[in-house]
Amino acid sequence: MQPSHKEESPEALIASMNRGGVPQKLQKEILALSEFHTYPAPGVLIGAFMVDWCLELLGADKTRKLYGVCETPKCLPDALQVLAHVTIGNNRLKIVPIGKFAITMNPPSEGPTADAVRVWVDLEKLKMFPTIDIWYANSPAFDKKTMKQQLFDEIFLAGKKILSTEKVRVKVTQKKKWKSVTCPCCGEKVPDYLIEGDKCGACGSMKYYEQIG
Ligand SMILES: [Zn+2]
Repeated sequence: MQPSHKEESPEALIASMNRGGVPQKLQKEILALSEFHTYPAPGVLIGAFMVDWCLELLGADKTRKLYGVCETPKCLPDALQVLAHVTIGNNRLKIVPIGKFAITMNPPSEGPTADAVRVWVDLEKLKMFPTIDIWYANSPAFDKKTMKQQLFDEIFLAGKKILSTEKVRVKVTQKKKWKSVTCPCCGEKVPDYLIEGDKCGACGSMKYYEQIG
């Protein structure tokens, strides 16, 4: 990681986390998360506390098989990937672009639903932390050139104090059997359930490239 601002260096983050009383184990996770994300975005820092609290509520750690839903594609997916090993690649992470800073996590379930915990950034509680409040609201009052250290300090001081939680039930999609079929258009194979009518997504609605030679 090559921080472009001094408050983003690991040393500065550790000092800020110590001031805020962040436990050592979580500090290590936050440093790894910042590296994975390529910089300590305020959103991933808050996300770390969200995932950590979900794990606590579920009585689980990252060695357990868990599933997660993120209500925004920004920042939060990386917190789930690093702190809980709920990843896009292992197909246990779903991103729903609702635009809320919230996540839901649950253990595996055999049935059609699973009991889950949802954690979100609570706007009422943000009032106690004015810098986070104006940053979160994307207010012009937040000056990222001069206020980033203050923002980090508040995030680490707040921890989960800006979050709320509830128990929820989520739908579970069980794995289905599938077979490989050949697209008559490009000749490449795709799983049968992804064929769009008579062709694959790349020849259909998901076309995203043109051949250039
Ligand atoms: Zn095709």
